[in-house]
Amino acid sequence: MKLVTYLEHGMEKVGALTADETAVLPLPYADMNALIGTPVQQLSEKAAKADAVPLSAVQLCAPIPRPRQDVICLGINYKAHAEEAERYNADAFTKERPIPIYFSKRVTEAVGPDGFIESHPGLVQRLDYEAELALIIGKTARDVAPEEAGDYIFGYTVLNDVSARLLQTTHKQWYFGKSLDGFTPIGPCITTADEIAFPPKLAISASVNGELRQSSTTDLLITGIADIIAELSSGMTLLPGTIIATGTPSGVGMGFDPPKFLYPGDIVECTIEKIGTLRNTVR
Ligand code: MG
Repeated sequence: MKLVTYLEHGMEKVGALTADETAVLPLPYADMNALIGTPVQQLSEKAAKADAVPLSAVQLCAPIPRPRQDVICLGINYKAHAEEAERYNADAFTKERPIPIYFSKRVTEAVGPDGFIESHPGLVQRLDYEAELALIIGKTARDVAPEEAGDYIFGYTVLNDVSARLLQTTHKQWYFGKSLDGFTPIGPCITTADEIAFPPKLAISASVNGELRQSSTTDLLITGIADIIAELSSGMTLLPGTIIATGTPSGVGMGFDPPKFLYPGDIVECTIEKIGTLRNTVR
């Protein structure tokens, strides 16, 4: 089941896409955070009774427009990306890291499909993209064993971890350079976990103005999803609705020589198999 948040006549609603993905079946929840954790069977029964609204009559938003907490992110979690990051800035991105890098990203308002990535002229130089598989926690997770981690995942989405490279590396802590307004496109939908075998092995890619930049598969994570959930939940309660972005493959702008950063007017498309394409324009 593919779940979306959308605007209809200015009202924000949640629903499920029809099988042909041409219409949405409204679901009776205040927002996606209120829906998360509901068994898929229940959602299917409610969707079956709903009257379909054509997608052409609505505007898709990020599936979770206002996350309840900061997004938890993994840094340097694909081997080929570790190598390109170290080539770009060896002080900031040494790949000699046997343990995962966790950081967080403030998201006051997530950017939806076809929304705008803000370039922040005057503040930001070296604007970059990072296509990532993000998972959504579905039930309160504490002390979860790796072999049970899949049971705690409600679904998956595509997240573009937009990054201001100069701010990111100047401040040592990555928080500010990752958390600017308009830096977190999410979507186009949440695909529920029952539709994706665990652990997910999905094609992931990013293109800029139609040029393929990133292309990998999500089974190449250095720290896998089961270990991420087990380690974090060993000391930190993960609440339903928690978003964890699992890191980006190689092919980000700073990985090229010379680098290929983003500028106003550029169109970034991040795609993950079984979820969809998240398309955003830089302004
Ligand atoms: Mg990232």
